[in-house]
Amino acid sequence: MRRSKDEIAKMRRAGKVVAEMHEATRAVLRPGITTAYLNEVAAAVLEKRGARSNFLGYHGFPAVICTSPNDMIVHGIPGEYVLEEGDIISVDCGAIIEGYHGDAAYTAGVGEISPDARRLLEVTERSLWAGVDQMTVGNRLHEIGRAVQTVAEAAGFSVVTEYVGHAIGTEMHEQPQVPNYWPGSPGPTLKSGMVFAVEPMVNVGGPETYTLDDGWSVLTEDGSLSAHFEHTIAILDDGPEVLTL
Ligand code: MG
Ligand code: MG
Repeated sequence: MRRSKDEIAKMRRAGKVVAEMHEATRAVLRPGITTAYLNEVAAAVLEKRGARSNFLGYHGFPAVICTSPNDMIVHGIPGEYVLEEGDIISVDCGAIIEGYHGDAAYTAGVGEISPDARRLLEVTERSLWAGVDQMTVGNRLHEIGRAVQTVAEAAGFSVVTEYVGHAIGTEMHEQPQVPNYWPGSPGPTLKSGMVFAVEPMVNVGGPETYTLDDGWSVLTEDGSLSAHFEHTIAILDDGPEVLTL
């Protein structure tokens, strides 16, 4: 689907709210706070900006953000978990403005983190930007995942294949999907006005996952650390525009 200038302007506004949720949650990250508190901080931003949540109530999801510490890859439910020195935590945020969606995630360290954890965050974020660099008119969709995978695997890490990025617009999750790996074919040709959420999930160990009994929390099967970075990006004639910065 190609979005008009007017639609992209609304998505830019939604993206700014998501960026503000990132900024506000990052500002309070420290040992001793709960993930429920991060959710409160993010909800206050939505309220202040008059934005709706696309996460709350999504297939029954009970919060406005996902919080996924350490070996949790994605979709963690904010709650009583208390952040500890040395943790890494993925915070995934979304917002709706005038019916248009933004979606973005970051992973950050809590206090001092191990060199391995630091390298995982650096590589995963760099893999996202390598994907963004592929988002030019005329290129093919699956070049994004190929670029992500190349960066992650060059560092000795693995990319999660069970969960992927997605087109985004008047729904949070639209077709087509955006794999973080080369799926064996180049996929659709990228056109001006297309908007995608690109979201590499990178594991220190293997790519296998399992889901907790809560029906949401996805973890690495081998217990290794996992990081997740995401932006919502519009493809424009003069190159990609990251809407969630
Ligand atoms: Mg997200
Ligand atoms: Mg997403």
